[in-house]
Amino acid sequence: MNVSESERLSSGLDQLGYEKVKDADDADIVILNSCVVRQGAEDKVTSRLDSLKGHKRKNPDATIALMGCMVGPRTEKLQERFPHVEYFMRPQEFQSILDFAAERQGLSCDSDLALLVPEAPKVSTFVPIMQGCDEFCTFCIVPYRRGREKSRDLLELVHECEKLVERGVLEVTLLGQIVDRYGMDLDAPTDLADLLEQVNDIPGIERIRFLTSHPRDMSQNIIDAVASLENVCENINIPFQSGNDDVLERMRRPYNMENYLKLIENIRGTVEGVSLSTDVIVGFCGETDREFEDTLEILKKVQFDVVHTSVYSNRPGTIASRKLEDDVPLETKILRKKKIEEVQEQISLKRNQEYLGRTVEILVEREIRGKWEGRTRTNKLVHFEDQKTNWLGKMVNIDIYDAGSWSLRGSLPGVMASTNDTKPDKSEISLTNITDIA
Ligand code: SF4
Repeated sequence: MNVSESERLSSGLDQLGYEKVKDADDADIVILNSCVVRQGAEDKVTSRLDSLKGHKRKNPDATIALMGCMVGPRTEKLQERFPHVEYFMRPQEFQSILDFAAERQGLSCDSDLALLVPEAPKVSTFVPIMQGCDEFCTFCIVPYRRGREKSRDLLELVHECEKLVERGVLEVTLLGQIVDRYGMDLDAPTDLADLLEQVNDIPGIERIRFLTSHPRDMSQNIIDAVASLENVCENINIPFQSGNDDVLERMRRPYNMENYLKLIENIRGTVEGVSLSTDVIVGFCGETDREFEDTLEILKKVQFDVVHTSVYSNRPGTIASRKLEDDVPLETKILRKKKIEEVQEQISLKRNQEYLGRTVEILVEREIRGKWEGRTRTNKLVHFEDQKTNWLGKMVNIDIYDAGSWSLRGSLPGVMASTNDTKPDKSEISLTNITDIA
């Protein structure tokens, strides 16, 4: 969501004649888009904000703005702590910096933020289809920062996707905090399955993904849409957070593991070749060794393709921070995360090895040190080498000859693999997928 909002703001600034610079010292306006979903993320923003004090001293005319989830409804404390920051903007509320940027250029800015479609989008682009969340899981700060659930108009979204396709986009990822709840707040009855169907019909669109699902809200309509619509990718992220029902209750997650496993069985039975990823939190308030073991058991049982593991960190203002004790020692949390990663590394390897000897179609998204990188419909990262053609933004078939836990390697059909071909390490994996393996 943050990446998408940054792209949209960037597009607005481009339209006002601004150019991106690499170094903050060369910038007239510096905007930090913040995430505070975990303490580590907040620490990064804080440290960057502190380092910008020097920038402000050297460039007193420069303007510094902070946007995103670090900015709540009240900004007095932030203003006190970061007096060098002029603008504080809540998620998706960045009109004030656009107004300022326009005025600085002697222009006026009346852009509708929702309609700020990126001018030069990446071939695979995010499209926020709704904002906010009404769920209030006890550990989560998002509803306090992003507000209540609000879906965007279906036709507006279809029009936006059409525009993106005209600008070279082949793949869209529809975003929502609980994306399966799309449309439930709109007057005209509609849902995510309707939207998927409409976007699927846009000429030129090759792939559609959606993020993030909630086990309670993933409906049969949505599962059937994934199974039947040609351009919707067979790839679903469905967080379970903990494999223990008592922990789920403390988290205020309204499902139990029996229902979750039935849902997984249904998805696998309906969507042929589907790949599944999930999100897990370790070390939540009161999590015992036995409760943690239940999470490991679920991972072994379900055999997800990818698991995103977070160490629980207390977020002030959440229900957990007010009512529960953050009593699992940090060393235990880290050990549990490591344990999950060890187990999952083997499972991911096994799942990726199923691709050996197969030819897969990938969308090439970037080049790193002479190697091309793309993803399959099932979201598997694939690397291949070719010096002759520029494959960026193209769909290409690749023969897979090697599989690791994080990615696959292959070659163009009929091309022998180079003997110098080395395995990409985690640092070479694209940002999208770093998120996937984090
Ligand atoms: S559903 Fe997701 S965004 Fe909403 S409160 Fe729960 S974890 Fe946070």
